[in-house]
Amino acid sequence: MLKVSNRVYRSEVPSVTLPPYRATNAYWVGSRGRVVLVDPGDGQAAGLDTLRQDWEALGRPLVEAVYCTHYHLDHSGGARAAGDFFHAPFFLSREDQACLAAHGADAGGFEVLEPGPLSVGGVDVEVLSAPGHTPGQMNLWMPDEGGLLAGDNVLGNTTVVIAPPDGDLGRYLASLKTLASLALAWIGPGHGDLVRDPAAYLGEYMAHREERTRQILALLESDWTTPRTLAEQVYRGKLDEAQMSLGEWMVRGHLAWFLDRGWVAERDGRYRKVEDHDFS
Ligand SMILES: [Zn+2]
Repeated sequence: MLKVSNRVYRSEVPSVTLPPYRATNAYWVGSRGRVVLVDPGDGQAAGLDTLRQDWEALGRPLVEAVYCTHYHLDHSGGARAAGDFFHAPFFLSREDQACLAAHGADAGGFEVLEPGPLSVGGVDVEVLSAPGHTPGQMNLWMPDEGGLLAGDNVLGNTTVVIAPPDGDLGRYLASLKTLASLALAWIGPGHGDLVRDPAAYLGEYMAHREERTRQILALLESDWTTPRTLAEQVYRGKLDEAQMSLGEWMVRGHLAWFLDRGWVAERDGRYRKVEDHDFS
C-alpha cells in the first residue's frame, strides 16, 4: 500500500485489465477512522484479500461508502463484495449503471453517484463529472490536497483507450481540459504510477491526442479509407495483430469525433477529409 498523503492511501488490487497493467488502483480517502474506498477492483478473491489486508493495516477504519469511478469491471466488479464485507453502500453514476445493465451485468444494488461536494472524515471532496472514457465517469477532486482521483481518464504509464461505443473523444478532451484547469499537485490514476507532475503530464496527453488527430486527418486527405486500413497505418509496429481490432476502435473514436465536427465524410464505411480546419 502506498501512502499518497496523510489522508489518501492507495492499494494495488490485482484485476483483469488492459495490458500493460495487471492491477486496479483502489484509494482510501479519509481521516479520523472514517474512509471511503474508491474503485475496489474486479472482485477476484486475490483483490479482495488485498483490500482486507490494507484495511487492517489502516487500523480498520469505518468504510462509509464504496465509489466506482466508472462501470468497467476492473473498477466496479468488486463493488458488491467490498460493500458486503465493509457493510457499506456502493455507488456508480446513473449513466454508467445503465451501461452495466446494457452489457447484461448486474447493476442492482448500486446507489447513484452524483457530482457535487461531500465530506468524509474531515476531507472535503468534490465529485466531478468527467465523461469520455465512459459516458458517466466521475472523478474525485480534493482541493485541500490538490489531489485528483482520475479513474481511467488518466493512466500512470500510458495514454488512455477512448473507443466507441463507451468512449467519446470530444467529451474526453473536454474532460481533460476541465481536469487540467484544477490546481493539481498530484493525480491518482486508475492504473499505474502516481502522477507527480500533473500539468506536464496532462499537457503531454493533449499533445498526443492532437498529434494523433493530425496524423489520421493527413491519412484521410487523398482517398476514401476504412478504419481498419487507418489503424494499420497508425499502429503499425505498436500493436500486434491481436490488438489491431482495439486500434481500429480507437481510430473509430477519432472518426466519430471528426464526423461530429464536419471534418470528414463517410460513404459505405469509408472516410475522407472534407475541409481544412485549425485547432482553435
Ligand atoms: Zn480501468
